[in-house]
Amino acid sequence: MAPLAAQAPQYDIWISGGRIVDGAGNPWYIGDVGIIGDTIVYVGPSKKVAARQTLDARGKTVTPGFIDTHSHGRRGIFEVPSAENQIRQGVTTIIEGPDGSSPYPVGEYLTRFSKVPATTNFGLMLGQGTVREKVIGLKDRKATPEELDKMREIVRQSMREGAFGLSTGLFYVPGAFTPTDEVVALAKVAGEMGGVYTSHMRDEAAKSVESVKELIRIGEEGHLPAQITHHKIMGGKSWGQSVDTLRLVEEARARGVDISIDQYPYTASSTGLAALVPKWALESGQKSFKERAASPEARARMKQDIVVNLKVDRGSGDLRNVVFASCVGDRTLAGKSLRDLTGSDDFEKAAEHVVRLQELGGCSCIYHAISEEDVVRIMRYPGTMIASDGGIPIFGEDVPHPRSYGTFARVLGRYVREKKVITLEDAVRRMSSLPAGRFRIMDRGLLRPGMKADVAVFDANTVIDKSEFGNPHQYAEGFAHVVVNGTPVLVDGKMLPARPGRAIYGPGYQK
Ligand SMILES: [Zn+2]
Repeated sequence: MAPLAAQAPQYDIWISGGRIVDGAGNPWYIGDVGIIGDTIVYVGPSKKVAARQTLDARGKTVTPGFIDTHSHGRRGIFEVPSAENQIRQGVTTIIEGPDGSSPYPVGEYLTRFSKVPATTNFGLMLGQGTVREKVIGLKDRKATPEELDKMREIVRQSMREGAFGLSTGLFYVPGAFTPTDEVVALAKVAGEMGGVYTSHMRDEAAKSVESVKELIRIGEEGHLPAQITHHKIMGGKSWGQSVDTLRLVEEARARGVDISIDQYPYTASSTGLAALVPKWALESGQKSFKERAASPEARARMKQDIVVNLKVDRGSGDLRNVVFASCVGDRTLAGKSLRDLTGSDDFEKAAEHVVRLQELGGCSCIYHAISEEDVVRIMRYPGTMIASDGGIPIFGEDVPHPRSYGTFARVLGRYVREKKVITLEDAVRRMSSLPAGRFRIMDRGLLRPGMKADVAVFDANTVIDKSEFGNPHQYAEGFAHVVVNGTPVLVDGKMLPARPGRAIYGPGYQK
């Protein structure tokens, strides 16, 4: 061979001298990772090679890029394609369409993403609520046989277009109006095509146990893997119920029903103000809600239910626990609590504010109503993966939940290093190979030759989330390098302009 050819770099990228944590849960070892094009071609002991670019990983941990299977990233991905909040915590793939709500049609959206890519890879679930709204509207009634057929066909077509499975938000409208049998019927179609079922369950407070039973039934009768998404127990009176929910999951698995869990590591949730409002009041959408709220009798009934919700479930008995992230009708409320707005502990008065703000178009809220004990117990469960339930915020805008900026770094810093709840290798497994296997992303989630080159390098001694409630717009710290499909997007802690993210397609995909 000619000397020139012999000296030509054999590798495009060489990540050298790091602690390799392969994503499968194996103990770390010192080694190198070699990349050609978009593919990992070498993972093993350190050696001297010629490479176009070398990323120094000495003293750092090298892992597969993380996969966030519960993302609301479509809210920001086109405005903020750098997705810096994700990249700075090692997330290289996001799966959108959770909680029963997804873009539609699936194929069209994935094509759109392919044309305007971001830093991260992007996949979709099909939302059951989206399908139901399309076919039945936001009505509280059963589907007719014709409607059910129509919905089945939409699921089938969406799986062919690349959805990873079916998501539900049985807590939300119109998911809340869906009988279990109807969910089973649609889940079956997704399952036949290799899909997974994920659910924001009907209830995550006093009726958590019942809700887990329903999810297990859907997995069992739908014959597909089922996942409790963002598993948590809301409301002080219900804390501790994760003992029972985890036992139910274990019992189901023992008899062959494939159940798993994902979780974000915080003691507060975030969702619409509508979470406080009874479902009957929300039927058929905002216009109908306002008509009902105009009737003194209906308004009084709404407020009664809201007071109970504030005392027992999402408010957990303290108006300070409900904090506004952003409100359509009043931008100045961001960061303030319902107690601040009410000016006292008068729950009746607070309920009136809730109805009034909902009339103005609603709010995004943060609900501090989860116990650390339940968070830790759920995290220790081996079948729990890490997922953010966050999105891609516009930096500095509103006061959103910190999970968008911090989830993965927080698990690595706070729960691995500081609290020693799980090991580093196990945490990485829950962020990479566990979600990849669960969603059948067969070419990502492990550091192995042949896998797509999504790689994260961070300092396990310093990695930490900086985003806080009330002051969320702060990137996580500790990540040095991030590579997506063989292209660096973060090097030595600096973001690069590359946008190598790809649309990724589920197991039923037919080109
Ligand atoms: Zn949710």
